[in-house]
Amino acid sequence: MKDTFKHQGMRKQLADVLRKKGIKDAAILKAIETIPRHLYLDSSFESHAYQDKAFPIAANQTISQPYTVAFQSELLRIKSGANILEIGTGSGYQTAVLLEMGAKVYSIERQQELYKKTKLLLSKLGYRPKQLIFGDGYKGLEEQAPFDGIIVTAGAPFVPKPLLSQLKVGGRLVIPVGEDPQIMTLFTRTSEKAFAKEEFGEFRFVPLLEDKN
Ligand code: SAH
Repeated sequence: MKDTFKHQGMRKQLADVLRKKGIKDAAILKAIETIPRHLYLDSSFESHAYQDKAFPIAANQTISQPYTVAFQSELLRIKSGANILEIGTGSGYQTAVLLEMGAKVYSIERQQELYKKTKLLLSKLGYRPKQLIFGDGYKGLEEQAPFDGIIVTAGAPFVPKPLLSQLKVGGRLVIPVGEDPQIMTLFTRTSEKAFAKEEFGEFRFVPLLEDKN
């Protein structure tokens, strides 16, 4: 697992691309510059790692486009030490971004193959999420709730109720909603009973599937 000056240079360029596309949060740009994204793809696809593109990973899933990762992370408005739940661990790249930003991260993946592979990879790379869970993200993670933020990294046909109810007051749920494409949606819990909803345009994700396999 090599990380060379060339890789580091390409990451800086990728961060510049994201800055030009409107990403402002310095902690996110720094995370993009820091994380060796090429190690989250199969080595034969290394040359694709620092383009601003989604890419296939194991089990017919994708590593999200860097711009999408940055955009969702920005919507979460993470403060260091925040408790964040991620639905759809996938390659672990988004998990790594959240950890670099100083969040305490819980992440759920429904594909056992990916869950195992990514657990190993993150630990090899020295990332320490609070918990990686093999399970169904539709249910959230009641035992660790409430969360400052919840990020869903697969396209949700509807907004799962448990995810709303597991937010702190003031907490934020960032979720792409719809079939194809999805609308990036932010729910902010404004009180025990009320949520504010904002929409941020179209994105494309693999679907959030029910249950685990
Ligand atoms: N954050 C990931 C995105 C991976 S794609 C990354 O940056 O690589 C979305 C992931 O969500 C896939 O790995 C898919 O298996 C997972 N997923 C789909 N439905 C799910 C569910 N109900 N619960 C948990 N994970 C789910």
